[in-house]
Amino acid sequence: MKYDVTVIGSGPGGYVCAIRAAQLGLRIALIEKYNTLGGTCLNVGCIPSKALLDSSEHYHNAAHRFAEHGITATGLKADLKQMVARKNQVVDQTSKGVEFLMKKNKVDVFTGVGSFVTKNKILVTTSDGNKELETDKVVIATGSKPVMPAIFNYDKNRVISSTEALNIDKIPARMVVVGGGVIGLELGSVFARLGTAVDVVEYMDSIIPTMDADCSRELLRSLKKLGMNFYLGHGVTGVKPTKTSCTVTVKKNNSEDTFDIKADYCLVSIGRRPYTEGLNLEAVGIKTDEKGRIEVNSHLETSVPGIFAIGDVVRGAMLAHKAEEEGVLVAEYLGGGKPHIDYNLIPGVVYTWPEVAAVGKTEEELKASGQPYKVGKFMFKALGRSRASMDTDGFVKVLSHKDTDELLGVHMVGPRVADVIMEAVALMEFRASAEDMARICHPHPTYTEAVKEAALDATGKRAIHM
Ligand code: FAD
Ligand code: NAD
Repeated sequence: MKYDVTVIGSGPGGYVCAIRAAQLGLRIALIEKYNTLGGTCLNVGCIPSKALLDSSEHYHNAAHRFAEHGITATGLKADLKQMVARKNQVVDQTSKGVEFLMKKNKVDVFTGVGSFVTKNKILVTTSDGNKELETDKVVIATGSKPVMPAIFNYDKNRVISSTEALNIDKIPARMVVVGGGVIGLELGSVFARLGTAVDVVEYMDSIIPTMDADCSRELLRSLKKLGMNFYLGHGVTGVKPTKTSCTVTVKKNNSEDTFDIKADYCLVSIGRRPYTEGLNLEAVGIKTDEKGRIEVNSHLETSVPGIFAIGDVVRGAMLAHKAEEEGVLVAEYLGGGKPHIDYNLIPGVVYTWPEVAAVGKTEEELKASGQPYKVGKFMFKALGRSRASMDTDGFVKVLSHKDTDELLGVHMVGPRVADVIMEAVALMEFRASAEDMARICHPHPTYTEAVKEAALDATGKRAIHM
């Protein structure tokens, strides 16, 4: 049988593309090399990390915040084995959910490594034999892997990536996190909340360096309160693991000064790289760029007509929702549509506590581009809802065009801003102004009122509660 589309990789890019293409009446094959569907996101990324973030947050609140609420908890204990077991259950259920969706949408799933024989013939290599699939179009959705330079001596035992960190089942006394980006701060805070002494070594002078600098500073303040220790403007020159610990050598930038930190684990989270190994791209002549990303045009077609690529394996933010949007775009393009993605409006979220969320341009980007802008800001500590829940760290910052007032960027640090950000995304999709945002009635008391207040501040310093 010949398929209309063969999708290689079952992450949020691949499986969503398969479903949407099947909905449009196309005959779909999905190839996944692992036994479970869902890719990095469901198995070793978004979902398991959020499961452990939730469990560790419950523990931390019980240990440090219940008393002020008038709740006495005695004999409190963090059972990391149980937390990991619950996380595994969540992953299992979610991955089975994707299996169900494949059956429901009549997508044929093949377990094995997919590789090109020709542009219309894909080999599936499995432990018990090979199979060749005939196909009209191909979508490459093979995702990414952690960047792991040799100096780290990655042994998956003491020197680990996020994948291993998600399965540590005994609370470590000390952990060095290399990289103050999203993974380092999310997983670093899981362990810090459970009582681990966490040292973050970040090469740049700020954490989450690509986000708005105000957000970066505010998050740093909160994470220091949590007890995390930061070496900003520092790098790691080497790591020596033993069976039970590791020694991390840290060097200050532009200096010869080095020092050693002995820890139970060294978590290396310095970025991820596109994964194309095993695809045999040479057979079809697909090009990758200097970062190993598959080159694509505006509708995500590679240099070879009929072969598309989406998600972490192509340019742009390495985010599950970006991969999903691209999966839908390719499916709808193949179904005859003319879909479009506004990459400027893909929100970014960091699931620390407080959370960080952003959409559009940062203030630094607006400054650099010379675009005239106005700023409005509202602090959560001035909000009734935040005082009631005692989540007073953070702010909402609204950036709008100085002349037209069109929303250009919205940045927030605070409670549940991962959800609050959607108001800004929706308004920006409709090219709303800060005035529009300010005039919308927001329910009281909610965290969303901080958005209205920041918009009021941006449009003439009219915030009511500040
Ligand atoms: P992937 O999810 O990586 O899936 C690719 C799949 O292709 C894999 O299953 C792989 O086994 C398979 N594959 C590769 N080569 C072959 C082959 N030759 N044959 C068959 N199969 C193959 N993003 C967010 O938006 N929110 C978050 O909260 C978030 N948290 C994260 C936490 C962690 C710890 C990590 C590591 C990542 C997180 N991400 C998050 C990023 C997110 O996981 C990725 O952006 C997303 O999974 C990319 O989707 P994808 O479909 O492009 O690739
Ligand atoms: P990242 O790019 O977010 O952060 C890496 C950090 O490491 C940067 O701050 C960088 O300056 C620093 N760094 C790089 N080399 C270094 C070195 N040698 N020494 C010290 N610091 C160094 O990468 P990540 O945290 O590994 O995450 C990878 C990807 O996964 C990201 O692109 C992210 O989008 C995605 N992810 C998203 C979420 C989310 O959406 N909540 C969560 C986890 C991961």
